[in-house]
Amino acid sequence: MYTQLGLYIDGKWLNGEGRKGEDVLNPATGKMLAHLPHASAADLDAALAAADKGLALWRATSAYDRAKIMRKAADLVRERYDHISKVMTQEQGKVYPESRAEVMTTADIIEWFAEEGRRAYGRIVPGRQKGVRQIVVQEPVGVVAAFTPWNFPTLTPVRKIAAALAAGCSIVVKASEETPGACVELVKCFADAGLPAGVLNLVFGVPANVSEHLLASPIVKKISFTGSIPVGKHLAALAAKTMKRATMELGGHSPVVVFADTDPEKAADTIAAFKYRNAGQVCISPTRFYVQEPVYNKFLARFIEYAKNIKLGDGLEKGTTMGPLANSRRLDAMEAIVQDSQKRGGKIVTGGKRHGNQGYFFEPTVITDLPDDSKLMTEEPFGPIAPIVTFKTFDEVVERANSLPYGLAAYAFTGSSATANAIGDAIQSGMVGVNSIAISTPETPFGGVKESGYGSEGGIEGLEAYTNRKFISQG
Ligand code: NAD
Repeated sequence: MYTQLGLYIDGKWLNGEGRKGEDVLNPATGKMLAHLPHASAADLDAALAAADKGLALWRATSAYDRAKIMRKAADLVRERYDHISKVMTQEQGKVYPESRAEVMTTADIIEWFAEEGRRAYGRIVPGRQKGVRQIVVQEPVGVVAAFTPWNFPTLTPVRKIAAALAAGCSIVVKASEETPGACVELVKCFADAGLPAGVLNLVFGVPANVSEHLLASPIVKKISFTGSIPVGKHLAALAAKTMKRATMELGGHSPVVVFADTDPEKAADTIAAFKYRNAGQVCISPTRFYVQEPVYNKFLARFIEYAKNIKLGDGLEKGTTMGPLANSRRLDAMEAIVQDSQKRGGKIVTGGKRHGNQGYFFEPTVITDLPDDSKLMTEEPFGPIAPIVTFKTFDEVVERANSLPYGLAAYAFTGSSATANAIGDAIQSGMVGVNSIAISTPETPFGGVKESGYGSEGGIEGLEAYTNRKFISQG
């Protein structure tokens, strides 16, 4: 039911043959799913050489023909959605409906970039002298190295793969070693759609070794990373050594501001469902809840009710609404947050501990009465714990929301259009959802400010990230 894992280099699947590797576990059971081979240094060099060869071929392919192959890959993802979703749930833990939604969005992203690649226009700028033509063209940036984490096993890789391919780049992806299977299935869709060998390569290994090897190579011209802030800073420094372009999609700590002029119960239903999606292991997950005093009790009561009704279990079982955490590191992190919260005077109003004695389950948790400088209010929790506190005024809550070094996503609920405009403008964040949580679509830019990173992954900005502008002055 799982999948055969391997490296994909120069159009061939590679496994075994004396390679080192690691076991992939099911976080719902702790049991082994499959063995994953690691790329050797020679494999990484082969992937770089293949990508270099693939670039020459792919950039010479018309945007029209590139789009045809990409659309076919999107169709294959849709045809195979059930299998890919089951692979994803087994290795990552998220419930099957969430995996299915991720896989369907993966197909949408490929399709959107396939189309948008055909609209990567240049322009003619009027010259200062007669007979001079000034032409601005877009060119693919070159070979891309991409590094993706374990929380969205196909969505994160596909944002990078689809944008790179649409722009005419080739790519070497190092997907997560903890959730490799769904990405293997995604790459199979591109291969079966007829993508030429070398254009897309997939490797796994010890992350620090792979990134150091790939980023030291002059073949790589661009890096795209999604993951934690410390690793992002490390990779940005490596990329700077050879002046590679970089997109960094890092962590966040998204404030949610609930104003008294909104329906607090409706807001609680919307945002609680979003909070516990993928057990809170989402970079844009709402993570700090500031509720204006008059509606605090109503919001809190409804939020707690939602959390208590969540059905924890294996994501493949029908009726389960939240799966396990993806790995044991997250369980330790949740326990450390709860301990610190208790020390800081926080009240655990529901949840607060591990669930069951197999797998990495943690109860949906709500904590109140926390000071702003506690661990949970200042460090990205990346788990199913929600701190809910009160605020009095607009200016006060804006200051508190903007007080951290993160700036990825933020949310607000209000019944006033003036407040909606004001909060959208005031929050320092790459994305702001006002009375809406729909901040991640294929068509719109996705990315952070401050220490949450730089560059955008979706929309026309996501395509531009893989192109260079060239100016040709023709006399
Ligand atoms: P981590 O910092 O060890 O790793 C984060 C990701 O980076 C993983 O996918 C890992 O494989 C990769 N990585 C680590 N070192 C690398 C290197 N030198 N080169 C290339 N890739 C490297 O932490 P973790 O325990 O996996 O996750 C913990 C924290 O990471 C979370 O609390 C969260 O803040 C953050 N995170 C963010 C996202 C996101 O979507 N932005 C995704 C996953 C994790």
